[in-house]
Amino acid sequence: MRKKYEKYVKNWYLWESAETRPMTFEEWKASNEKLEAHKAATKAAAAEITVFQEFVEEANRIRIEDLEGQSFPAVYTDEDKIISAKRKIIQKMEEKFNEIRRELVLAGRADESGLYAHAFTAAQEAILPRKKPVRRSPQEAQLQLVKAGCGHMVRKSELMSASRGTCCPSCYDSMAD
Ligand SMILES: [Zn+2]
Repeated sequence: MRKKYEKYVKNWYLWESAETRPMTFEEWKASNEKLEAHKAATKAAAAEITVFQEFVEEANRIRIEDLEGQSFPAVYTDEDKIISAKRKIIQKMEEKFNEIRRELVLAGRADESGLYAHAFTAAQEAILPRKKPVRRSPQEAQLQLVKAGCGHMVRKSELMSASRGTCCPSCYDSMAD
């Protein structure tokens, strides 16, 4: 907690606010607690929204046997087929969400749509968790294939630098000949 506060003090001037000095530890703690309480309240209110539940249940009921007779690209594995079917359900759910949002706006309750957005995202995650971006290690990055200036694909670690840009090792050798 203290560490987080020290970080805040160091960077407080970067924050968009009217403060002319950093908050004291007590002020900062209170403001953090208020923010956390607000987040928790929003989460709880969003959890009360159940319109997306049926979509989550439908998606989680999908079995590969149910998809027989549907056409998929030949390269699709069973897992790909299920993911594709789940995506279709998410699409249907998004249409529902847009419909709700439109109704809220028309009813002058646009500020409530944020809660629905929360609930929608949570339902989406429950159907198909979004993958975290993979961070490559420097070693892995070296193994990555890249297109050299000569037009050939090479591992990044094999990329040669020539006077007219990059090239692959065999083009580099033939240039030397
Ligand atoms: Zn080449």
